Amino acid sequence: MRLSLLAKEVAAETLGRTGAHRLWSGRAAPRVLVLGYHQVVEDERNAGPSIPAMIISTAMLERQLDWVGRRFRFVTLDELGHQLESGGAGERPFAAVTFDDGYRDVYEHAFPLLQRKGIPGAVCVVTDLVGTRRLLFHDQLYLVVARALAQPLSARAQLVMRLRRIAPVPGLEEIARPRPRGAFAVMRRLLETVPPAELEMMVHVLGEPREWEEESFSELRILDWDMVRAMHRGGFTIASHTSTHARLTVETPERARQELSASRKRLEEELNAPVRHFAYPDGCFDGAVVDAVAEAGYEFAYTTCRHRDRRRPLLTVPRRLLWENSCRNSAGRFSPSLMRGLVQGVFDWFAPCRQDHRAARVARRQEAMA
Ligand SMILES: [Zn+2]
Ligand SMILES: [Zn+2]
Repeated sequence: MRLSLLAKEVAAETLGRTGAHRLWSGRAAPRVLVLGYHQVVEDERNAGPSIPAMIISTAMLERQLDWVGRRFRFVTLDELGHQLESGGAGERPFAAVTFDDGYRDVYEHAFPLLQRKGIPGAVCVVTDLVGTRRLLFHDQLYLVVARALAQPLSARAQLVMRLRRIAPVPGLEEIARPRPRGAFAVMRRLLETVPPAELEMMVHVLGEPREWEEESFSELRILDWDMVRAMHRGGFTIASHTSTHARLTVETPERARQELSASRKRLEEELNAPVRHFAYPDGCFDGAVVDAVAEAGYEFAYTTCRHRDRRRPLLTVPRRLLWENSCRNSAGRFSPSLMRGLVQGVFDWFAPCRQDHRAARVARRQEAMA
């Protein structure tokens, strides 16, 4: 981890100084930049059960926005979409700021900060969770995985045997490794390899049935509709992020269509305004999913990587996901060269997107196998 951070720093410093990054990455600074954040907290050291790669402190968020604001003009997603449609011939490059999942702390911390700075933002909400005390599924999964990994080896081995009896799915061996990887890495692997129904069963077995509604997870709470409407009135764009945070590439086509249209309909009813924008949960898309997004009436959709669907570029707009440590140097301070490297895609080589966006839908494959 430390080595890769140092390697990144050296790469960023050297490439930034020489300008070689333009040759290396094959592109200069982007003309259009969409930033993606999740939770925004007062102090990242007290973020409790939150997934570290999904939080940023208000102080670090402000530093990153200030850096971007000196190079890009912040616009709403509507304006950004207009620029993309017309070829983006503006005098200055454009940037937009998005927050995925609809955490309550976005209303509490990010909204006032962006209002004060005159920056328009966007929140991509999971409509079934708004106004409830339920937690997002990835937060539940992270909590149970982190708890499982904290147990001694023998207990973990027993746990895996129990889980195997329920669902013999790949990825469980991660939990029983003598030296397990971190909870986030294990969670990501499970999300990538285990079908949604089996994963839900796992979380159900590993967690207490009622604990997801307990006050002890107040850090993970979701917005309510009054907050969503207040941000909308304050100039924020409200985008859909499905009804349940469904990873659309592993759902049946029917369920994917339902997630896309029901969430858009709910938002339009609650806001009394058209909803044009959509963000793919976990950046999961393939050709069939992109078509379903178009059918559901969205005009712009945002991914989490640089892959595009050439047929529908406006429905696969890339984003740069950022968090507290994404631009911190080894001394723990905000690093302008790391930030520049990130924005220009210099580090894509370190952590490339492994999704095959052309793949046939998993669900369809399973149907064919059944
Ligand atoms: Zn999400
Ligand atoms: Zn990708």
